[in-house]
Amino acid sequence: MSISQQLFEKAKTLIPGGVNSPVRAFRAVGGNPIFIKSAKGPYIYDEDGKQYIELINSWGPMILGHAFEPVEEAVREAIQHSFSFGAPTRKEVEMAELIVDMVPSIEKVRMVNSGTEATMAAIRVARGFTGRDKLIKFEGCYHGHGDSFLIAAGSGAVTMGVPDSPGVTKATAHDTLTAPYNDLRAVEKLIENNHNQIAAIILEPVVGNMGCVLPEPGFLEGLRDLCDQNDILLIFDEVMTGFRLAKGGAQERFRIRPDLTTMGKIIGGGMPVGAYGGRKEIMDMVSPAGPVYQAGTLSGNPIAMSAGLAMLRYLNEHPEVYTRLEATGERLTTGFQASLQKLGLNYTINHLGSMYTLFMTENPVINFTDAKSCDLTLFGSYFQAMLKRGVYLAPSQFESLFLSVALTDELVDQVIQANEESLAEVLQTR
Ligand SMILES: *Cc1c(COP(=O)(O)O)cnc(C)c1O
Repeated sequence: MSISQQLFEKAKTLIPGGVNSPVRAFRAVGGNPIFIKSAKGPYIYDEDGKQYIELINSWGPMILGHAFEPVEEAVREAIQHSFSFGAPTRKEVEMAELIVDMVPSIEKVRMVNSGTEATMAAIRVARGFTGRDKLIKFEGCYHGHGDSFLIAAGSGAVTMGVPDSPGVTKATAHDTLTAPYNDLRAVEKLIENNHNQIAAIILEPVVGNMGCVLPEPGFLEGLRDLCDQNDILLIFDEVMTGFRLAKGGAQERFRIRPDLTTMGKIIGGGMPVGAYGGRKEIMDMVSPAGPVYQAGTLSGNPIAMSAGLAMLRYLNEHPEVYTRLEATGERLTTGFQASLQKLGLNYTINHLGSMYTLFMTENPVINFTDAKSCDLTLFGSYFQAMLKRGVYLAPSQFESLFLSVALTDELVDQVIQANEESLAEVLQTR
């Protein structure tokens, strides 16, 4: 038995499902998860000493490659001064200043410890600011594990949410309305049917959590208009896209100003950090400036802030990072397309900058229903075939991959080769 397998067997007796976050258990692709020992640059190494090319990068944060020296150095410097104070520090001010400088719509920002915390707080602030209870989210968008977000549309019941998880109350579900992504008409209807009751519309401006799905032309603009016309706050959940699709995130790339933005992942440079921010008058609702309560013992933690600051500073000062990520994404997906053509396959690749998903379906994928039409068994075999060839993908069809600047052209070509071989292999045995 491999060391990973031994660890997993033991983990299952101690931790629910053997993991501290569900997707890691490999249930969507079969087989046992690999346990990671270390990582450097473009490579990740498991407990059995096997090396893999990294295409997840901790779900985003390792955009500069693993163990990036300036981040490492900042953490090493910071730990000499104790790990936590629970009191204000200089670094929090510098962090806030940098975020306000980098993200177009943010005038004030509050640090938290995860993306989940950021979205939960943003919704509370939106409700406090508008005096309304309901929110609109989109099917297939993930906003962390807060109760309000674990809602899918019940079959046919467009106007009333149904809890996606036991433990989420009907009352909570009742306040969360869902629409298909890219469907402005459905959003209009929800607004008409819930006149003056909707506090916010929250979405991933480019989706990563049903696989990579792009907003259709006019979708984000349409949402912005609907929000303006109905005094609804527009919340961009940029936990994945922030500091990735551009240094100012998707909102910079698509030139849309949300009222509130939630961030996570890259913002902590690999440490547990989240943040939410936006227009001054909205953020001044937050305690102690205003009445909406939100707090955190470890929020703005000095070690986490040091890592995040080093990461954001580097991204802010090196625009060539984004040029490089675009080129890497282009090279990889062009190579994939060529392989698909060669193999006579018509599968869909969605791609923007350093995010992409190869969907095992011939349909275009613009919403969750499309994504669910994929051949998931085929994806599982493809995932295992790639892993065998030393390429570490997200263990689910419903995820985006995240490229890093540590990927050289040579490594990208290796991934393209592995992809072609894997597809050929799984099609043969199908
Ligand atoms: C990962 C993610 C979250 C949740 O962040 P955590 O740090 O895992 O709590 C929220 N929204 C989006 C878009 C995400 O990708």
